[in-house]
Amino acid sequence: MAADAAHTPSEGRTDGERELARLFALQKEAYAAAPFPSYEERIANLNRIIRLTEANEDAFIEAINADFGNRARQETVIAEIVVTVSGAKLTKKNLKKWMQPRGAPTPLHMLPARSRIEPQPLGVVGIISPWNYPLQLALAPAIAALAAGNRVLIKPSELTPHLAETLKAAIASEFDESVCAVVTGGVETGQAFTETPFDHLLFTGSTAVGKRVAEAAAKNLTPVTLELGGKSPAIIDESADIETAARSIAHGKMLNAGQTCVAPDYVLAPRDKVDATVDAIAAAARKMFPAIDTTHDYTSIISDRHFARLKSLVEEARDRGAKIVEIGSSNALYPQRKLPLTMIVDPPADAAVMKEEIFGPVLPVLPIGSTDEAIAYVNKGDRPLALYWYGESDAARDKVLEKTVSGGVTVNDALWHVAQENLPFGGVGKSGIGAYHGETGFNTFSHLKPVFYQSRFASSALLHPPYTAKTDKIISFVRKIL
Ligand code: NAD
Repeated sequence: MAADAAHTPSEGRTDGERELARLFALQKEAYAAAPFPSYEERIANLNRIIRLTEANEDAFIEAINADFGNRARQETVIAEIVVTVSGAKLTKKNLKKWMQPRGAPTPLHMLPARSRIEPQPLGVVGIISPWNYPLQLALAPAIAALAAGNRVLIKPSELTPHLAETLKAAIASEFDESVCAVVTGGVETGQAFTETPFDHLLFTGSTAVGKRVAEAAAKNLTPVTLELGGKSPAIIDESADIETAARSIAHGKMLNAGQTCVAPDYVLAPRDKVDATVDAIAAAARKMFPAIDTTHDYTSIISDRHFARLKSLVEEARDRGAKIVEIGSSNALYPQRKLPLTMIVDPPADAAVMKEEIFGPVLPVLPIGSTDEAIAYVNKGDRPLALYWYGESDAARDKVLEKTVSGGVTVNDALWHVAQENLPFGGVGKSGIGAYHGETGFNTFSHLKPVFYQSRFASSALLHPPYTAKTDKIISFVRKIL
């Protein structure tokens, strides 16, 4: 089957757009010729991902470091290399089971038929990845899509050009481009990508761009998974040990300098413990990063634009009278774009820092009177991508879990639910649509096709017209046994 010519950007204006159209047509044709890769072929593709990730580890570390200005090597190893390889290995271990047809019980009145759900590849999958974890967020969805038997095109962010080129070369060294390839280019290529009639499109990025992606994909009725952002709260309960919570929050907020979709965006602390919380977070931050200007451990802000945006969030809150607590040397600011952890104590409710996703090491700390107040505060805003709760009271924890809706939750730590590959990862409401990781990822990129195997002893013909008194008798019998 050829690509849908009416919707394919065949007359792309830029090199990126032309390359996209060529690769998409090629993959569509390859899919039509071989729509159901075997278990062995899929395992071989997962091995290719593992090999290219491990073989290019140093090149990826260097490329990401160049893109950020400074990115801690260990952060790249943990959050890009290890996470990707462990996701691929877990997928390999489970793939045979996931590929199996799944039984579905057949109701009594339909016996002796059998029913099954048979996973089937969708075809050609598009992946648009952001700059913040540019390797992991390109390869983790690719792992799921390839495991499900699809062909994959990846469009990395233009803000990480070194990584994009390194990834493109690494993928080309292992994969035939009819199976998996990278398309690079700017926003025009991104737009053309979203207008391409993929069989599924996974986008990771901001909520604002996510809306445009969904709009463009809707024109082709391309199903989308949108992995977006939002304001993820960290709630410290009365029953929490403040030092333990503070260490976790400081780490969650300073990893990758807060440029993490699931970083704690703000803290809700018991009213009488706000000062103790701020002091404990400051102490934890100083211990992890005693000198942010000289250490390679602390990651830079990705661009001057994002740096200026974060500074202006702080300045607006300062101008409006909020207390600002900056942890680290202001010598660090330029040229490395290292922004110290900056806490904003009790900013006005309508300050910009409380209205938009922060996505950097700026941390509002708000006093809260009770668990109910914390729940009400969270529920006033859009549904967050992540929620963190710290404490020892099971009753307070369960109340928060029951009465708030967020993409995912880690209790008594930050970030870790994302690394647990057997848990689905995704947002809800404005923080995203759909999910992946582990079996959920396999299902996302599969058509779970219901198949009803009728029996040759079936009596369904008894319900065919012409309708008679006998038909009515059969209907009333069936209604009795339902
Ligand atoms: P972004 O939305 O600016 O860009 C994401 C990708 O979309 C990039 O590849 C970019 O080139 C492309 N793009 C930009 N404009 C486009 C358009 N009009 N049409 C098609 N593609 C376009 O996001 P970002 O700044 O790269 O990443 C930060 C955001 O991503 C934050 O909001 C963060 O929370 C979110 N994020 C979410 C997750 C998650 O898994 N839920 C993970 C990481 C980041």
